Amino acid sequence: MAAKRLSEMASPKEADDSARSQNGRSGHITSSPLGRSECGYRLTAIGPSRGPSAAPLSWQRVGSGGGRAEAARCGMESAGVPPQSSTPAQEAEEPPGSPALPDEELQSRQSAGQPPGEEVLPAVTSQERSHRGVGSQGPPGRAARGKGRRAPGRRGGEDGGRAVRRPRVTVDSSKAKTSLEALKISLRQLRWREFPFGRRLPCDIYWHGVSFHDNDIFSGQVNKFPGMTEMVRKITLSRAVRTMQDLFPLEYDFYPRSWILPEELSLFVAEVRMMKDSDPSWKPTFIVKPDGGCQGDGIYLIKDPSDIRLTGSIQSRPAVVQEYICKPLLVDKLKFDIRLYVLLKSLEPLEIYIAKDGLSRFCTEPYQEPTLKNLHQVFMHLTNYSLNIHSGNFIHSDNVNTGSKRTFSSILCRLSSRGADVKKLWSDIISLVIKTIIALTPELKVYYQSDIPAGKPGPTCFQILGFDILLMKNLKPMLLEVNANPSMRIEHEQELSPGVFENVPSPVDEEVKVAVIRDTLRLVDPQKKKRKDPQCQTLQHVSEANEELSDTCPANRAENDAGRSPEAGLPSLCLKQVFPKYAKQFNYLRLVDRMAALFIRFLGVKGTTKLGPTGFRTFIRNCKLSNSNFSMASVDILYIDITRRWNSMAIDHKESGMCLQAFVEAFFCLAQKKFKSLPLHKQVASLIDFCEYHLAALDEKRLVCGRGIMEHRRAVVPCQADGLPLTPAAHAPLLNRTATASKLADYRSHRY
Ligand code: ADP
Repeated sequence: MAAKRLSEMASPKEADDSARSQNGRSGHITSSPLGRSECGYRLTAIGPSRGPSAAPLSWQRVGSGGGRAEAARCGMESAGVPPQSSTPAQEAEEPPGSPALPDEELQSRQSAGQPPGEEVLPAVTSQERSHRGVGSQGPPGRAARGKGRRAPGRRGGEDGGRAVRRPRVTVDSSKAKTSLEALKISLRQLRWREFPFGRRLPCDIYWHGVSFHDNDIFSGQVNKFPGMTEMVRKITLSRAVRTMQDLFPLEYDFYPRSWILPEELSLFVAEVRMMKDSDPSWKPTFIVKPDGGCQGDGIYLIKDPSDIRLTGSIQSRPAVVQEYICKPLLVDKLKFDIRLYVLLKSLEPLEIYIAKDGLSRFCTEPYQEPTLKNLHQVFMHLTNYSLNIHSGNFIHSDNVNTGSKRTFSSILCRLSSRGADVKKLWSDIISLVIKTIIALTPELKVYYQSDIPAGKPGPTCFQILGFDILLMKNLKPMLLEVNANPSMRIEHEQELSPGVFENVPSPVDEEVKVAVIRDTLRLVDPQKKKRKDPQCQTLQHVSEANEELSDTCPANRAENDAGRSPEAGLPSLCLKQVFPKYAKQFNYLRLVDRMAALFIRFLGVKGTTKLGPTGFRTFIRNCKLSNSNFSMASVDILYIDITRRWNSMAIDHKESGMCLQAFVEAFFCLAQKKFKSLPLHKQVASLIDFCEYHLAALDEKRLVCGRGIMEHRRAVVPCQADGLPLTPAAHAPLLNRTATASKLADYRSHRY
C-alpha cells in the first residue's frame, strides 16, 4: 500500500513549490505517527491563514483518525527524447567521468564534521554510476581519492599537454536548501569548487534555494532574480498575462480566462451571467486557487459563481478564479500535466533556454468531466504529485513510460506513434514559454533596478523556472502556472513499515534535475565569459591569485590537471536556447517592456519601484504629451485616479506611488486619447514610438549641451533644470566630459 499522510503546507509559495520538508536526506529514516489506515482526500472549507509561514489546510484526510501533520514534499521527474525541432550544436558527446577531487573530499569531510585524515568515500549517485560506467575506465572515485590521478582520457587534454592552470569556479551552496543534493552532484561533475558553509571571499556563484534576498552579495551571480517569487504568484501572473491579452488577445489565448478575487468578484459574476445568456448550452466549471498557494493547497472547483466560499477566506486570502479546462488530453484515461524547466539566463539582453525534456505528473483516478458529484475528487481533477502520492493508486516506477510520474518525452513518443504532430506541439510550447516570459520581464526589470541599481556593485542573476502546462484534448498547451522555486529534490519518500518513512533516491528525478542544474551552471560559467574577454585573461582578482598560489603546491597540482577541460566529459546540453534564437518572431510583443523602460527612466531615485507624481509629470512633459486638450491638471487627476485604485488592490503597501501596472494603464489611456481609430496594440506602439522619439531628441540636446560644457562649464546649468533623470547611457558621456573639462580647468589654473 502506498504511503498516505495528511499533507500540511509548512511554508508559503516562497519555499520550494513542492519540496517542503527537509527532515531527512537520502537514506535517513524518518518516523511518523501516521498509521496505514485508509484515507481519502476531500476539499474542505479554507480556514483562516495561520501566518506567513504556514498556509491553511484545505485538503484534509477524511476517514482515518488524526495524525501529525507534516510538511508535504514532492519531487519532479525525468528527461528523455529531445524535441525534434532542434539540437544544440556545440556540445561534445563524450559521457562524463567525474571522480571527486581531493579538496572536495576535504570540504565534504568538513561539512560532515569529520577529521581530514579519515577516509570518506564520496557519495556515488545512480547517475554518476551510470555515467562512470560508460565514460571512465576503472573503479569510479579511485582516481580522485587522495592519489591525485587524472581522470582517464584527460591526459594532455585539449591543451596538448601544456599545463594550463585555471582557477576553479567557486560556488556558495550554503543556502541551497532542498536543491543541495542535485547541486552537489552537478558540481562534482563539473569539478567546480563548493563552499557548503559560505566563504569569506566572494564566490563566483551563489546558489539559493528560495529567493534572491538571502544575503548581501556584491559580485558574482545569484541563481534567483529579485522579485521573481512575487511575479509568479497567481494574481501577479494573471495580471501580467491579462495586460498582454488586452494587447494581443490571440497570441495570449494559452492562459485560461481568469478573475482576481475579491476585487473582481462582481465582474466575474456579471461576465459569467452574460456568457451564459448568450450561450445557454455553456456549462462551465471554474477552479478557485488561493494566491501564493502551492501543491493544490486551498484549491476547489465550482459550477457557479455563487459557490465561491466567501466566508472569511477570500477577504483574508485573495485568490484567482479561472475557467476550468474540462477536456484535457488523457493518457491511460488519466489527466496529467507537464512540468518543464526553463532557464531565464539574462533579463537584459533577454536569454531563455528550455530543457529538452520534462516530467508528466498523473492523476490517480480515471478522469471524468466535472459534475456536481465528482467536483470534490482531488485524485481525478488535480495532477499535483504532492496530493496524488497519497492515493492508494499512486504508482512509483523507475520506468519512464509507466507510473504516476513519467517523462514528457515518453508521452511525446506515444503521441507520435498515434500520428500526432509532436513538432507542432513543441513549437507551441516554446511559443507559450517565450510569451509568458515576455509578460513577466517588464516588472522583473523594475524589481531588478530597485535591488541592483545600475552603477552600484551587485551580482547578476539567472533563474530556473518550473512551467506547469496542461495539454488540451486537441493538443493545445495551456499554461497553469509558473514556479519560481521548482522542486529540485532527487529523492522520494517510501514507507518501510507503518509510520516509518525512508528517503530513497529517485533515479528519474536525479537524471532530469541534475542535468538541468549542471547545464545551467555550464551556461552561466563565469570562466567562459572570461575566456571570451581577452582583458580578463590577464587581470585576475587578488583573492583568486592567492588561491592560485595555494593551488601550485604539489598536493593541489593534480586537482588543477584534472581541472582541465571539465566540459569534455559531459553529455550534450539538455537546455536549448529559444531566445534570442526566435527573437524576430516575438519581439513585436515586447511593448510593455518598452513601457517599463520609460517608467524606469522616470523613477528617478534608485531603489524605488513606484513613480511619484513629479516623475509622472516629468514623463508627460518630456514626452510632449500635454497640450491644450490635456492639461497638466488633467495629468495630475489621471495620476491620482489610477494610482489610488492600484494601491487599494496592492498586497504590499510599503511604498506609495504609481506601480508599473498602474503606469501601463495610464499609458493605455493616453494612447487611446492620442491615436483614436487604431486597435489598442497599435495605439500603444505608436505612443511608445512618439515618447521614445521625443526622449531621444532630448538626450541629443543634452549631449550637445554637454559638449558646451567643455567650452563653458556653466552652460550645463539650464540643461539640468528640468529635472530629467538621464539614462545611464546618456549620463556616462556627459559625466566623463564634464569631469575631463573640470580637470583640465584645474590643471590650467594651477599651471598659470
Ligand atoms: P498549485 O500551485 O497549488 O499546484 P496549480 O495552478 O498548479 O496550483 O493547480 C493545481 C492543479 O489543478 C494543476 O496541477 C492542475 O491539475 C489543476 N488545474 C489548475 N488550473 C486548472 C485549470 N484552469 N483547468 C484544469 N485544471 C487545472
